[in-house]
Amino acid sequence: MTPAPSQSSTARGDAIVVAIDGPSGSGKSTVSKALAQRLGWQLLDTGSVYRALTWFALDRGIDLADPAAVIDAVPAFLSVWRLSLSPEERWVRVGETDVTERIRATEISAEVSKVAGIQPVRDAVNQRFRDILAAASAEGIIAEGRDITTVVAPDAPVRILLTADEQVRIARRLAEKTGEDPNTVAATVSARDAKDSRVANFTAAAEGVVVLDSTDLGLEATIDAAIDVIESRSAQ
Ligand code: C5P
Repeated sequence: MTPAPSQSSTARGDAIVVAIDGPSGSGKSTVSKALAQRLGWQLLDTGSVYRALTWFALDRGIDLADPAAVIDAVPAFLSVWRLSLSPEERWVRVGETDVTERIRATEISAEVSKVAGIQPVRDAVNQRFRDILAAASAEGIIAEGRDITTVVAPDAPVRILLTADEQVRIARRLAEKTGEDPNTVAATVSARDAKDSRVANFTAAAEGVVVLDSTDLGLEATIDAAIDVIESRSAQ
């Protein structure tokens, strides 16, 4: 399969990397996409990769409770996985299959932590993230997700931990998921954070990481605050 244009060989290799981490509902995805759009930069949605790997494993009947089987599947997955880095045109493909929508299914959200909790899987996927960041072809790239500020890009010039109080994060998820049972949504936010925090620390900022608390900020104000951080940090 030919490489996707968005992961093409027109790499400059000197893109400004902005690493953004934070718990569920902190606004990471929305803020990261908006930042990439506003700046005309690329976007690396790392969660979509774990989701696509989960889909791939389930599609092949792999038992997610069997870490060795999941680890074995990673090279085959990475060889056929493609992701658009354009914030305007977002897609994820596994071979010829477009999984952009399927990876958002509740079943995938419920299972993805199992896959993401396997350390050798993380090591392989994180290495691919580093390769993508090194090959970014825009002036800058926003990379969001667990481990990004600490393990994947600890030397990035801009590293942000986006936080918000748990009640606010749950309320934001509820606003996105109208029609779903509020108790289930609240429990899902808390449970996913609890599972994810076993393998990645995203609640405490590592040294040099700027904490951006969006509890009292609307989306536009959060984006403005992030732009301020990016401008001041990347100028240093
Ligand atoms: O961000 P998103 O909700 O799509 O992430 C889905 C899941 O993928 C997270 O709950 C986490 O288990 C895993 N993930 C991860 N490391 C990342 C991104 C996502 O472990 N960098």
